Amino acid sequence: MRLYRDFQSKGNRPANMTAQAEAHPRVTILGVPIDPVTFDQMLDRIATWIAAGDRLHQICTVSPEFVMIAQDNPEFMCVLRTADLCVADGVGLLFAARYLGHRLPERVTGSDGTPLIAQRAAREGWSLFLLGAGPGVAERAADRLIRQNPGLRVVGTWAGSPAPEEEEEIVARVNAAGADILLVAYGAPRQDLWIARNRDRLDVSVAIGVGGSLDFVAGVVPRAPRWMRRLALEWLFRLMRQPWRWRRMLRLPRFVWAVLRHRERAIAQEGEPS
Ligand code: UDP
Repeated sequence: MRLYRDFQSKGNRPANMTAQAEAHPRVTILGVPIDPVTFDQMLDRIATWIAAGDRLHQICTVSPEFVMIAQDNPEFMCVLRTADLCVADGVGLLFAARYLGHRLPERVTGSDGTPLIAQRAAREGWSLFLLGAGPGVAERAADRLIRQNPGLRVVGTWAGSPAPEEEEEIVARVNAAGADILLVAYGAPRQDLWIARNRDRLDVSVAIGVGGSLDFVAGVVPRAPRWMRRLALEWLFRLMRQPWRWRRMLRLPRFVWAVLRHRERAIAQEGEPS
């Protein structure tokens, strides 16, 4: 009974959830809430938050890897459950949602989302701050995004690190820049924990963890060719380019196994979910 209710649960949404969000109930996969939104809906949500300008709104780009990390990391699980928006960054989540009787409209990846955010930002006049990635990468990413989107305002870039002793200085830099949107590229779970730890003192409307996206935008790491992405083989391309990822990628079969077991248990206790 309890497990089946978990499938249906919406996660712990912040109290001031918008009516727009209410119209798209969250899907919960192994305790992690995922919002069934498209890229356009994410951008519209960002527009609403920037117009409100009341507080920081956190977006997490959740992959199956995030879900498995959260199983063993209660702090990360809590961050995902209290984020304002969790998008499905991974085809595995779309399959899992369908297997559990729900629907997620499309993959909303940080890698595709970063250029789309920049595009919309140039149109709307939103300003960006790019934080994280290797030395010089955020600057290169900013140059490229500005070249691709004339008029885009990137008001700051900084590599820094997610180490707590650097937090004070980084927060001061971000606040002095006066950005609307902060993109944080420290990888999961560090980037998301970093945002959550600092959300009350960061003066931005939106903060989003974007993983390796700045590496892709800057061109320091190539993205998988389109055909591999279409066949959901991006993970294989990344593994071939960066073999040290193999250990991290063991989380993918663990994710599949956990989802299968979760549904089996639910059926045993409740009968086939409709
Ligand atoms: N990174 C960083 N500082 C750190 C750890 C990671 O700037 O202490 C950056 C790293 O250079 C990369 C990004 O964080 O640009 C994370 O990349 P990864 O490919 O691991 O993330 P994923 O896309 O797999 O979440």
